[in-house]
Amino acid sequence: MAEVLVYVDHVDGAVRKPTLELLTLARRIGEPVAVALGSGAENTAAALAEHGAVKVLTHDASEYADYLVVPKVDALQAAVAAVSPAAVLVPSSAEGKEIAARLALRIGSGIITDAVDLEAGDEGPVATQSVFAASFTTKTRVSKGTPVITVKPNSAAVEAAPAAGAVEALAVTFSAQATGTKVTGRTPRESTGRPELTEAAIVVSGGRGVNGAENFAIIEALADSLGAAVGASRAAVDAGWYPHTNQVGQTGKSVSPQLYIANGISGAIQHRAGMQTSKTIVAVNKDAEAPIFDLVDYGVVGDLFDVVPQLTEEINTRKG
Ligand SMILES: Cc1cc2nc3c(=O)[nH]c(=O)nc-3n(C[C@H](O)[C@H](O)[C@H](O)COP(=O)(O)OP(=O)(O)OC[C@H]3O[C@@H](n4cnc5c(N)ncnc54)[C@H](O)[C@@H]3O)c2cc1C
Repeated sequence: MAEVLVYVDHVDGAVRKPTLELLTLARRIGEPVAVALGSGAENTAAALAEHGAVKVLTHDASEYADYLVVPKVDALQAAVAAVSPAAVLVPSSAEGKEIAARLALRIGSGIITDAVDLEAGDEGPVATQSVFAASFTTKTRVSKGTPVITVKPNSAAVEAAPAAGAVEALAVTFSAQATGTKVTGRTPRESTGRPELTEAAIVVSGGRGVNGAENFAIIEALADSLGAAVGASRAAVDAGWYPHTNQVGQTGKSVSPQLYIANGISGAIQHRAGMQTSKTIVAVNKDAEAPIFDLVDYGVVGDLFDVVPQLTEEINTRKG
């Protein structure tokens, strides 16, 4: 069976969930071979093996932390040369997409970005993408070279499938460009204790209807009852009620959670562009004609200041 390379996103050996989702998808098209780089790479092996990696190729060098993406591209290119895979899968983060694009260029392959699903096809893997502000769903296949595909977080449910996960050292020679852009400083972001917006399984968002920075406490309380991330519309962000890092939409972040709850958000096309691929969409809006109701699975016509606290209380009660 053909091998499929999966680029591992990890923090000091702790594998992030989108990588485990990639392993689930990789198993549909071949045998997953994981590529883990940098500090703690070997510590990823147990989690990767548990989720189907037959092999884990590892390499550690200070270049991975000290410079931007090129050392990682060099390593992935070395892995492609060593394995001759049927495809290379990379998480669809900003960094992942840059790595994937550079790799595809290096190896003369086609690339598909932001896939939301993946299946085996007669002539290679077929990716599903949601395009033009999510108004079309397309099926796409790379027609040249080894397909390089980035997949959005939450595109597949993580499934355990124990495999050997044999750790092998990857031989990497860094290119002249590897040390072109040095990281000169790092400032850790203050943790909110909530999941990362683009990776969260549940996102609770607030818009202009929240009517003030202080009222976002209501949105945060609902998010915390569900273990969710908090998002915001551009109107709420532009008003200074919530940080830009939490903006969902065309000029903000693109999210694809299992559950998206929009509160006081009208559903403008630019907002939809960032959340329309969410699996289940719920909206609370006092205007029954709001366009958001055209795409919801469940809609509540009501005042969010009545509805949201009641919902939070009910969830907390049921959690016991
Ligand atoms: C180039 C460009 C890029 C853009 N990028 C983005 C983007 O990335 N993300 C984004 O979100 N927008 C983006 N926008 C802006 C977008 O067009 C909308 O203006 C914005 O999404 C509106 O935000 P909103 O839904 O919060 O506000 P509004 O459209 O004002 O809607 C507020 C909603 O809240 C409801 N409401 C009010 N009070 C309550 C209450 N008490 N209870 C319940 N409901 C209530 C109202 O009925 C209304 O439907 C972009 C625009 C442009 C031109």
